[in-house]
Amino acid sequence: MGLFHADRKFERFEDVTPEILEHECVKLLLCDLDNTLRLHGETEPSDELAVWIRDVRGAGVKVVVISNNGRRKMMQKFCKPIGVPCVWWSKKPISTKLTAAMDKYKFRPDETAMLGDRVMTDVLAAKFAGVKAWKVEPRKDVI
Ligand SMILES: [Mg+2]
Repeated sequence: MGLFHADRKFERFEDVTPEILEHECVKLLLCDLDNTLRLHGETEPSDELAVWIRDVRGAGVKVVVISNNGRRKMMQKFCKPIGVPCVWWSKKPISTKLTAAMDKYKFRPDETAMLGDRVMTDVLAAKFAGVKAWKVEPRKDVI
């Protein structure tokens, strides 16, 4: 598959089920934030997101948010209630922060996926890092 082609496509993050993660042998799920896990302007995690994170974590999968958003305090405030570490200003499609997360949490590329809504940042960063590139439809058009 080419650099610009996601390995799997989903409608929304909720479609990435514990069963799929297990089947794909994914133990580390790196997630984009804006338009992937949250709507533009959403300041608190939705109930859907909290439930999904709980289920994914219950399946033994580590979740880390990796965002190009530079608003550190907003991100920390958003991610804290769901207990998910977040990396801001990640400069995707540069894959440095994806690799750093794998190093930090001790997972290999073949057991890692990057989930995001944008080809030019999320999918490309996943390809450069050698992890599974999973794309969701944007939760809302970027303003
Ligand atoms: Mg996004």
